[in-house]
Amino acid sequence: MSGQGPTTSSALWHGFADMGAVVRDGAFVFARGEGAYVFDTAGNRYLDATAGLWFANVGHGRAEVADAVRDQLLKVAHVTGFGDGATDTTVALAERLQGIAPVPDSKIFFTSGGSDSVDSAIKLARRYWQEKGRPEKKLIVGRSNAYHGMHVGGTSLGGIPVNAEGYGGVLFDDTATVAWDDAKALLGLIERVGAESVAAFVAEPVIGAGGLLPPPEGYLREVRDICREHDVLFIADEVVTGFGRIGGAWFASSRFDLQPDLMTTAKGLTSGYVPMGALFVAPHVAEPFFAGGVWWRHGYTYGGHAAAAAASMAVLDIMERENLVAEALRLQDSLLRELSTLAEHPKVKDVRGGVGAVAGVQLHEPAEAMATVKKLRAQGVSGRAAGLGTLQYSPALITTDEQVAEIAAATRRALDA
Ligand code: PLP
Repeated sequence: MSGQGPTTSSALWHGFADMGAVVRDGAFVFARGEGAYVFDTAGNRYLDATAGLWFANVGHGRAEVADAVRDQLLKVAHVTGFGDGATDTTVALAERLQGIAPVPDSKIFFTSGGSDSVDSAIKLARRYWQEKGRPEKKLIVGRSNAYHGMHVGGTSLGGIPVNAEGYGGVLFDDTATVAWDDAKALLGLIERVGAESVAAFVAEPVIGAGGLLPPPEGYLREVRDICREHDVLFIADEVVTGFGRIGGAWFASSRFDLQPDLMTTAKGLTSGYVPMGALFVAPHVAEPFFAGGVWWRHGYTYGGHAAAAAASMAVLDIMERENLVAEALRLQDSLLRELSTLAEHPKVKDVRGGVGAVAGVQLHEPAEAMATVKKLRAQGVSGRAAGLGTLQYSPALITTDEQVAEIAAATRRALDA
């Protein structure tokens, strides 16, 4: 690596960062991206091992997506989606998403990102039970190690306690947490508090930010069945796993036949070219709101933004044409194959993967993960540390097997350094 290195600015406040250290040591500033690579302001090239924050599924710098956004902006950037308004592009995207939804005839409620989608799901779950005449069903159950975004609902529901600390207590009442890998814990909780008070259970099919934790065999179907048997809505948080990331199907919910009542998405929906999220609502949950005479008083100014919808249409075209939902299975295998070679490394505690184009290398010393990410950069790879001291691997779905091998080799060099 050569060039001027990090850029220092005391103006930009980064999320999830020690700003004193960022200002002191400099920020990692990117100037451009191309395919599986990103380039810093000095022109140094890095393999993007994480597709940004799990979003750049079709890779960086795709002119076709930029052209679609430009064309839309010149027609109309956006109109409100409140009331009976929409743009033709937004309507077309909703129809297209309905066609690939895990539950046929799902309704698509657009948001501006993953946290919006999660908080919308939590509100809709509670609102649904009110409409069904069961207002006492309010408790929303999440899992340890879970990440559901940083809005008030998602922060309260998340299973990473430090993320909810420092606000003077729980932000949103009526949430509970069960062990991430124990379906019986969910059953026990429902039996203890009574199904009549539980509105919904929320689960990431593969826990992402909390540490790349694939579900135990059979877990997802079991919790889904427990929810069904107890009249608890099952919410799949597919902000990371959706749109081909998990491979073999558009959604983990389809691959594992989960039939979620609600499904939250964002990220891969537009590959991050323009912010956008979408909440998928199964028809039986939407029914009270579509029967006539009832409003859901909820929405975001930029929900269904026309330029984002145009970006999404172009991204879905690329995904289909380049078979990226199938390619994710190739990456599932190559990530596990290449990263497994690190399993015997003295600094490595565990290598996890095998469920889509996501993998994690957990270190014995969680505190070393951030330092290893910095060493990885010196090896030409842009990486990230997720929870439990786990190095995150979620490359663009266009990443080649050779590039995956290079990411693994660079990780070994970083661990040795
Ligand atoms: N849900 C999950 C599972 C996520 O991983 C994330 C973000 O990483 C979110 C929700 C929040 O999404 P956003 O950061 O777009 O608000």
